Amino acid sequence: MIGDRGGDAGVPETGGIYRRLGVEPIINGRSTFTILGGSLMPPAVLDAMRQAADSFVDLSELEEAVGRRLADLTHNEAAFVSGGAAAGLFLGAAAAMARDTEDGVLRLADLGSLPREFVIHQAHRVPYDLAIEQAGGRLVVIGRAGQPDEGELVDVLGAATAAIVYVPKAHLAQDVLPLDLVVEHARTLGIPVIVDAAAQLPPVENLWRFTRSGADVALFSGGKALCGPASSGLVVGSARFIERMTRNAFPLQGLGRPMKVGKEDMVGLLAAVEWYLELDHEALTREYEMSVDYLVRWARRRVDVTVAREALGEAGQPTPRAHVSLRHGTGQDRDELLASLRATPPRIDLLADPDRGFYVAPETLRPGEEKVIARRLADLLEAARPPITDD
Ligand SMILES: *Cc1c(COP(=O)(O)O)cnc(C)c1O
Repeated sequence: MIGDRGGDAGVPETGGIYRRLGVEPIINGRSTFTILGGSLMPPAVLDAMRQAADSFVDLSELEEAVGRRLADLTHNEAAFVSGGAAAGLFLGAAAAMARDTEDGVLRLADLGSLPREFVIHQAHRVPYDLAIEQAGGRLVVIGRAGQPDEGELVDVLGAATAAIVYVPKAHLAQDVLPLDLVVEHARTLGIPVIVDAAAQLPPVENLWRFTRSGADVALFSGGKALCGPASSGLVVGSARFIERMTRNAFPLQGLGRPMKVGKEDMVGLLAAVEWYLELDHEALTREYEMSVDYLVRWARRRVDVTVAREALGEAGQPTPRAHVSLRHGTGQDRDELLASLRATPPRIDLLADPDRGFYVAPETLRPGEEKVIARRLADLLEAARPPITDD
């Protein structure tokens, strides 16, 4: 094939800087996964970062000014920029443990005498909750699959509880207590609630919804749907709790110092939030629907796959995606197919399901890449088709 990096589907050729290093770029049909680079920053964000790189500035002054503007934009009392949502989880844990100390600064030597338990529902466990343990916290896991057990929550909360951690994935709503109810129990005991909403955009209202429900703080990834710097995180919430987080955060030289946030990241995330709030979200959803429609129509014409449109994205956010399954007897193994897609240009990365299928998520595709994906899938499926024999 000629120009086979998607050029004939009208996708602009990019990634030269990576190829010069011998690293072939990837078409991302998996979604905003950090391991693939998160998301692509729009020109407004890149331009802001470029301008930020032009002069020196007092980082504490900048942190405060950016925080005030982010708080206004997201209808929260306070906000600040962390070095990613996982860093926000670390700082939230530090602030929660040190909340009753005089200066609010977490010191390792004091851990023995502080509340250290972080209550989390089993369905809310994520690989990133390691950041809580990194700060010296201990996870107290409650709940069983499909059982929002209010009694168990009430039983575990006590003087040793530092905070409740809540991951508001819409598709888990049946399995866990609603956030309002969790907040109610926490409030009566003066226990903070930390919401890890790293991948919970869209909808845009989530930027203020969780904190309006009474959570002390909500954390978002700067490098996922917000399309800001991958190394940034948006922290929004109550002035008191966020002030406590900043006492443990960069640029101060406490435990959060290794999670650095550059001036370009601060300004870049602010530009990303401004951009995100101005986005025509309905138009964007229509674009996603068109990509998914294209893939669904393509797959329906084939005998070797079945296809369905799914309403929710990987993290439960309301972003549609296509779910493709290989029929039995196609001669193609799902894992081999996905490995082949990833092996040679145009390299494509897709998310496997727990069975024989995979998803194609539209939100990280550039225009036309859904066609590149369909064409490569067709090539690989046809190459694997069992030979027709005479007998
Ligand atoms: C992606 C993600 C994180 C980590 O976010 P970073 O900004 O990459 O640090 C944390 N929690 C959840 C639920 C996530 O999906």
